[in-house]
Amino acid sequence: MHQILEALHHKLIVSCQAMPDDPLENTDALRRISLAVASAGADGLRLNGASLIHLVRKDTSIPIIGIEKRYEKGALRITPTFQDAAALAEAGADIIALDCTDQIHPFGEPWRQIIKRIHTELGVLVMADIATLEEGIAAAEAGADFIGPTLNGYTEATKSSECFDWKLLRDLQQKTGRPVIAEGRINTPEDAKRAIEEGAWSVVVGSAITRPGIITRHFINVVNTAQKEDAAHYAIGVDIGGTTIKAAVVSHDGTTLTPVRLATEAHLGREGIAKNLTSAISQALEQANAAGLPIKGIGIATAGAVDHRDGSIFAATDNLPGWTGFSLRAFAEDCFHLPCFVINDAHAAVLSEQHFGFGDGLTDFVAITIGTGIGGGIVSNGKLLLGQHGFAGTIGHSVIQVDGRPCNCGRAGCLEAYVSTAGLIREYTRLSGFMPKDTIDDAAIALQINQLACRGDKPAQEAYKVLSLYLSDAIANLFNILDPQVVLLSGGLIESYPQFITDVESQVQQRLHFGAGRRPQVRAASAGKNAGVQGAATLVFESDRS
Ligand SMILES: [Zn+2]
Repeated sequence: MHQILEALHHKLIVSCQAMPDDPLENTDALRRISLAVASAGADGLRLNGASLIHLVRKDTSIPIIGIEKRYEKGALRITPTFQDAAALAEAGADIIALDCTDQIHPFGEPWRQIIKRIHTELGVLVMADIATLEEGIAAAEAGADFIGPTLNGYTEATKSSECFDWKLLRDLQQKTGRPVIAEGRINTPEDAKRAIEEGAWSVVVGSAITRPGIITRHFINVVNTAQKEDAAHYAIGVDIGGTTIKAAVVSHDGTTLTPVRLATEAHLGREGIAKNLTSAISQALEQANAAGLPIKGIGIATAGAVDHRDGSIFAATDNLPGWTGFSLRAFAEDCFHLPCFVINDAHAAVLSEQHFGFGDGLTDFVAITIGTGIGGGIVSNGKLLLGQHGFAGTIGHSVIQVDGRPCNCGRAGCLEAYVSTAGLIREYTRLSGFMPKDTIDDAAIALQINQLACRGDKPAQEAYKVLSLYLSDAIANLFNILDPQVVLLSGGLIESYPQFITDVESQVQQRLHFGAGRRPQVRAASAGKNAGVQGAATLVFESDRS
């Protein structure tokens, strides 16, 4: 008897049982499960029924706790008679477990009497399955060799208890003076370890190892909650530009649904712009509501430098008059009672590139957008750099020509003064000797030059060549400062003329120290027209994750 006690000290016992309606409630199935856990290293088994124990005993010598579950008069009782205990011992059980609770047992014999007879007539150990401390003390006094809080949570007195009662485990050890076997709702390896650390003699794990039906239901419940979280993953993304405000419902994978476009009416100033902003967001929210898409928050991209700490506009140009100093995040949260986030529009485009475009999977890259000006952003070590006032990544105002052309920032020789729509038009006019006509604005003229270059027009191609030299200087500087994996270029000026990017890449390589070995990559970005809207929405999803 002493050997059995020692063999189970600080060891795992596996209970192999099935409910009456379970397909595994079959002696051969349970025999195979028992042998599988035994061959995996279980140090003991808890098995129901003499016939099962008889079969398992033929193939393993590890200690077996035997029980006989009897259902009578609508009630369950574990090993209700001495006859049952005798059959279990005869089959090969080393320990007989029986119900020693205070509840009125509608059938069977008094448990004190059974314990006594097991010891004197069968010579095997007894485990008392109890639910409360008082029952444990009583069972110890009656001679039980092990105490197990197996029935805690399953009797009338303890039915409110929903998980393993650690205090009961400690109290039983202190007050009964018997080895306590932790059993009942030990569902994880961590719980089993804790039971031993808290002083249990052994620990019994059942359902979590041997009942695939219960394990499957647990997996399904967890998977279902994931699907619900997924379904709720929508945000409103907004992009405020000088002429247009775009808003859309954005799903967590970047899909934009139900886009709304309104005129910014920037000439109306802060109040007018804010009014158009709220109606764009309201329309997007209404559409989300109609489609049954729950919205987690609002991400707003805007021209101007954004103070990321409070979502206010630190500085904006005359494209958005009155915008400087506006507490945009507070305003939007007051209107919509949803979490709101504000970001510079170029930064938002970089976030879109990082999450849904070419930058997906990259940790270090610079994105540059070329249009009327130059927008940019730097992702370093997986994080978009914002800077103290929101100016990080203002690549357009890096000087590439000392005492060069004047720039609207007040300096001379900025990249933006050379590489932009106006810059392209200027170079083309200089090289071709004439100016394209019948056009609406600079963007339309630049588009014509772009088409000429694609068709092989020499002056147009030369104009691009000049711009590529300027841009290469700026990008070589970036590679020297940041050593990124890649620089991504975007903008209508270059999207349909891939030769430009090829030229920039080879010129950057020539300008870099150890350039041949470094092979700096310059590529076309892949984020599309809705990059600002998508990127702003990622702020909502990211905040959700943190
Ligand atoms: Zn400048």
